[in-house]
Amino acid sequence: MPDQIQFIQGHKNLYTYDAAGKKLEAINYTVRDIVNVPIGTISTLPASSSDYTKLTTDYVGNLIYENGSLKEILLPDGYWQNGVYYYYLKDHLGNNRVVINNSGAVVEKSHYYPSGMRFYPESTSNSAALPYRYNGKEMEAMNGLNQMDYGARRRYSGLPIWTGPDELREKYYSISPYAYCAGNPVNAVDPDGREVRIKGDEKYRKETFNNLQQLSSSKLALLKNGKVVEASSYKGKSSQISLTGSVTGNGKDKVNGTALVHDVISDKHTATIQAGKENEFNPTSQTNASTAKVGSGGTLSFNNEPTGVVRGIVNQDGSDHVSDQSVLGHELLHARHSFQGTVNYKTVDVQDPDRNNWAFPMSREELRTRSFENYIRSEQGDEPRAQPTINNQ
Ligand SMILES: [Zn+2]
Repeated sequence: MPDQIQFIQGHKNLYTYDAAGKKLEAINYTVRDIVNVPIGTISTLPASSSDYTKLTTDYVGNLIYENGSLKEILLPDGYWQNGVYYYYLKDHLGNNRVVINNSGAVVEKSHYYPSGMRFYPESTSNSAALPYRYNGKEMEAMNGLNQMDYGARRRYSGLPIWTGPDELREKYYSISPYAYCAGNPVNAVDPDGREVRIKGDEKYRKETFNNLQQLSSSKLALLKNGKVVEASSYKGKSSQISLTGSVTGNGKDKVNGTALVHDVISDKHTATIQAGKENEFNPTSQTNASTAKVGSGGTLSFNNEPTGVVRGIVNQDGSDHVSDQSVLGHELLHARHSFQGTVNYKTVDVQDPDRNNWAFPMSREELRTRSFENYIRSEQGDEPRAQPTINNQ
C-alpha cells in the first residue's frame, strides 16, 4: 500500500493505514502552479500554503471527516449526509447502480464497463453522491489518481488489474498476481477476498453458523455483515461480532472438519451460504472451478430445515439420518474443490444407493466428495454414508 503518491504535476497524496492495512487518513495536496516532476523523484511542496490546497479525509470506522468536520456516515445499504439518508440499489456484483434519497428521489444512476469504469453517468453534478460505486468500492479521484480502493489492494477502473500483487500469489502460480478476478470481472467480484459469508434472516444465519462451528474445533465468530472468521485471528472491532461459537468435543478430535472450515474461510475465493431447497454448491465459473490454481468461488445452497423424506440419503446400515452439519460439510467439500480448481465434472456410470442402486451417471467430483464425507461424518458421530459402486465398463 502506498504511503505517498507523487504526481508529475507536483500534486501529492499521502496515506496512513492501520496495522491491518485499512486506510485511516488520506491527505491530498493540489499545487496551484503545475510543475514537471521527473519520474522516480519526489518534489517538495511550495513553501507558501497559499500555493496549494490541502484536503484531509479521515476514515473513522464508518464515519468520514473532511478537513475535520463530519462529511458522511457509511451505512450497510447507503449513507447519511447532512441529515439525509441515501440508499443504494445494487446489481448482482454489488455495484451501486442507483442512489435514492429518503424522499424517494433518484440522486444518481451509474452504468459500468466490465472493468469498472463508469459510462453514461447521470446526475453527476449532484454534490451528495459518494464515490462508492463499482463493487461498492471507493473511487479515489483526487489529483487524477482514479483508483478504486478494495482494502487489501487498489485497482484502476479502466483495466481489470491490480496496482499491487496478490498477497496469496504463491497459491496461484498459473495466473498473474496482478489479475483481477482471474480476468473475469463480468461474473466475479473480489470483495476483499478470503471469506465465507452466510446470507439470510437472523434465524438462518444463526443456525448455519452453529452448524459450521460444530464441524470445527477452532472457535469461530459470525460478523454482523455475515462473514465468518476464526475468532483467534479476528483483528476487527468486537462491536462487529454478532455471534461467537463454542467448541464442542475435546478440541482436537475434528481434524478433518477443522481443516475444511479453515481452508474455505481463509481462501482467496468467497463462498456465500444461503437457504435453498436443495443442498448444492454452484461455482461462479465451472471452467475456473476445474482449472488448477485458478479456482472459483460460488454460492452454497444449504437447507437446514429438511421436511418430509429425510434428504433421501442412504447410510451403510440402511438408515437415513444425517446431521445438518455433515450435510453442510459435504457442500463445503465441493466449495473447497472449486476454490482449488480441482473439480472434475466428467461422469462415470455408478449404482447410486440414494436411488435404489439404479445405474446413474455421477461426476467424479460427487464420487470423491461422498467418499471424503464419511471422514466428516465420523467426527460428527453420524453413520457412514453408503457409497456408490462404479459399474464395470
Ligand atoms: Zn454433492
